[in-house]
Amino acid sequence: MAQDVLVAGGGIAGLAAALAARAADWEVRLFEQAQEFSEVGAGLQLGPNATRVLRDWGVLGPLQALAWQPPRLSVRDALDGRVLGTLALGASTQQRYGAPYLTVHRADLHAALLRAATEAGAWLRTGLRIASVRVDGELAQAHLEGGALVEADALAIADGVWSRLREQLVGDGPAPATGHVAYRALVPMAQLPARLRGDEVQAWLGPHMHLVRYPVRAGEALNVVGFIEGRAGAGWDHAVQSDALRAAAAGLCGELQALVEAVEVWRMWPVHDREPLSGPAQMARGRAALLGDAAHPMRPYLAQGAGMAIEDAWTLQKVLAACDGRVIDVPTTLQRYALNRWQRCARVQRRARRNGWIFHADGLLRHARNLALAAGGEPVLDLPWLYGAG
Ligand SMILES: Cc1cc2nc3c(=O)[nH]c(=O)nc-3n(C[C@H](O)[C@H](O)[C@H](O)COP(=O)(O)OP(=O)(O)OC[C@H]3O[C@@H](n4cnc5c(N)ncnc54)[C@H](O)[C@@H]3O)c2cc1C
Repeated sequence: MAQDVLVAGGGIAGLAAALAARAADWEVRLFEQAQEFSEVGAGLQLGPNATRVLRDWGVLGPLQALAWQPPRLSVRDALDGRVLGTLALGASTQQRYGAPYLTVHRADLHAALLRAATEAGAWLRTGLRIASVRVDGELAQAHLEGGALVEADALAIADGVWSRLREQLVGDGPAPATGHVAYRALVPMAQLPARLRGDEVQAWLGPHMHLVRYPVRAGEALNVVGFIEGRAGAGWDHAVQSDALRAAAAGLCGELQALVEAVEVWRMWPVHDREPLSGPAQMARGRAALLGDAAHPMRPYLAQGAGMAIEDAWTLQKVLAACDGRVIDVPTTLQRYALNRWQRCARVQRRARRNGWIFHADGLLRHARNLALAAGGEPVLDLPWLYGAG
């Protein structure tokens, strides 16, 4: 009889885990607390480390029709608009890493994973919340809110940055706020004046803030996200009158001010992260494995949170496929998963934090950064350790 896994959460990590487990020939039951599967938010960049996995799952083809393949990354100074450095993407990434660099609407990625997991035979349910778990017995147990008990050989916990189930396994409290706030917007390209459109990924670096923009939806919309230092008010992801962002943009170059003004509706999102993982115990215990933001929430300054979730699921697939439940038991299998993943995820978490400090540099540090980018050229922006592995 096939072994089975329960998945907590139907975001990108949970759906990827469900798909991966089916690919390893495990039965899957996934529980999502929301009444329907959906993804809020706007765009995502997907490096070749992630698209390589999507291709293996048969998800890349359908997704690529809705995605955008930017020709380059261009890094600019937000104060004077100067180009500080560029990295060729497009055909160049494909050639170097064997897979494309894409920008996608996150709902398109989520829908592609949902479709693939459904077609692969995963049992996926909404409106069901896992309230508590037990992972140290003969079977993994999950209590659903309302009282029902479900059991399986293993449990994949993918309940996101505000994971309650992590607390039961790792016990290290909620993910702290970073003091940074993201303002996100999606603007139909047709609504923008020609000089504000563009086909590349642009990162504009300013004192205590930065802004990233790129096309999604086959170039029909521009995704814009501005990050500023400052606490968010109560709640999260609400449409806001983005006075703080406009104030932060006041001293920036004309093109950036015009872009910020051109956006009608911003959605605000306080950024939370955790200290980089310090060992495998934070990614697996007993019959449970943690994936995605539940395991390693990170600042989005390396554009790799979803990428790491996809890689997590890929590694899970490999270890589950090798697990027969007797010679190699489930706890050993999930330890292998954690041992394979934690150092890479920690490195990405650290690098994402470091990028934040560099991106937001002011004064002399800003000048030093700009000089380093100009002197270093493409190699400073290319990340073979990240894009070439996974
Ligand atoms: C501004 C911003 C920009 C970003 N840009 C990028 C980028 O360019 N590239 C990139 O790779 N990443 C990016 N990321 C990161 C990426 O969005 C996340 O890492 C990724 O979406 C995390 O997915 P997840 O499935 O782990 O978590 P979530 O998307 O939070 O999913 C968790 C799911 O679990 C459900 N759930 C919670 N508790 C329970 C429970 N007890 N029982 C059942 N269901 C439950 C929730 O309802 C939710 O659906 C960005 C993030 C931000 C904030």
